Amino acid sequence: MAKIAMKDPVVEIDGDEMTRVLWALVKEKLIFPFVDLKSEYYDLSILNRDKTDDKITLECADAILRFGVGVKCATITSNAARKEEYGLNALYPSPNATIRSILDGTVFRKPITVSCVQPTIRTWKKPIIIARHAYGDIYKNAEMLIPEAGKVELVWTGSNGAEKRILVADMKKPGIVQGIHNLDESIRNFARCCFRLARDEKLPLWFAAKDTISKTYDGRFKEIFQAVYDTEYKDSGVLYTYSLIDDALARIVKSEGALVWACKNYDGDILSDMIASASGSLAMMTSVLVSPSGVYEYEAAHGTVQKHYYRWQRGEKTSTNPVALIFAWTGALAKRAEIDHSPDLFDFAKKLEETTLRTIESGNMTADLAAIATCPVERPLNSWEFIDEIAKNLDSVSL
Ligand code: NAP
Ligand code: MG
Repeated sequence: MAKIAMKDPVVEIDGDEMTRVLWALVKEKLIFPFVDLKSEYYDLSILNRDKTDDKITLECADAILRFGVGVKCATITSNAARKEEYGLNALYPSPNATIRSILDGTVFRKPITVSCVQPTIRTWKKPIIIARHAYGDIYKNAEMLIPEAGKVELVWTGSNGAEKRILVADMKKPGIVQGIHNLDESIRNFARCCFRLARDEKLPLWFAAKDTISKTYDGRFKEIFQAVYDTEYKDSGVLYTYSLIDDALARIVKSEGALVWACKNYDGDILSDMIASASGSLAMMTSVLVSPSGVYEYEAAHGTVQKHYYRWQRGEKTSTNPVALIFAWTGALAKRAEIDHSPDLFDFAKKLEETTLRTIESGNMTADLAAIATCPVERPLNSWEFIDEIAKNLDSVSL
């Protein structure tokens, strides 16, 4: 059978530990036999980032901007223990944070669902995609311990000397205070990314905050979302709803799912973990970074699965779940296909996704899923057996 040709490349970003092992395996067994893969390869393994003084991360972010579509393996975020383990020269920021700030992107997390793994919340029939604003609020705060009674004020001094001043509290006793901020432009870009994804996924978009209490701060978020909708997305087919966050949570828990939920930074931090665990497993969660200019980077939501890697180094064939990695590849290939108008490549990506899900639903899965699956499972498969099973099933569907 002739392999599917690609017009433009995807930016391929290799990573670390167990996910690096599976990365190569997924390509060898599930992509190379079917697609004449065109990729711009960047090795973001911890040793290569160290060797290049992290320049490789900047180069790779630049390549994603140029080519429009990237696919990324999980990478180690260096810390003191990793410095010791790998003999690193320096500690660098998390590659994800670096890439996110260069792309000015928003991260969307979406559970991958199979019929034999029930979400903890019974009503959820379809995935809920969480969009987390990744700038400002308490993550860029200024905070202070107040040692004794005194006045706390909020002061803005404009570049021309203008001033605004309001009382935060006339404190009679010791306590605490914090200042947070956000930028109209960042909120607007976030809103655009959310509307764009909702349009692409053909899902309604909900944005929820607490503007009844925070009339100016959360009120500004609400205003900007509404303005982006009114001026740019009114005719896009996206159904947009603003809701108070407590009301949204209560309604979403009772819903069937199938929506994009845009969250402020802190809300998204909390709720993305809640959605991940309530949906089944971290290994069944994809993550895509979308920039306001329409650049996409796909990855698995989980890390490098370090503990499995050490077992693999000792010779064990681990039962590490490769599904989120497979879906990172299919997400990137399908997006490439969409941009390049390549229906064959698009069909392949969708068939690989379908085949992966059907393989699990026929009782063939890794240990993390076998432990929670409702269908009969003879025995959990190791990653190699599982991927071989998908490859076999993929061969038998007409491509
Ligand atoms: P992790 O790699 O997500 O793994 C945590 C645990 O979750 C694993 O020990 C495993 O549990 C389970 N798990 C995660 N993915 C799995 C999979 N595909 N199949 C089966 N089980 C899976 O998180 P971590 O151990 O906290 O972090 C390891 C490294 O990853 C760190 O160096 C961190 O910096 C990096 N990290 C990278 C990214 C990224 O690049 N996007 C994200 C997060 C973390 P059991 O051991 O119980 O089987
Ligand atoms: Mg969190």
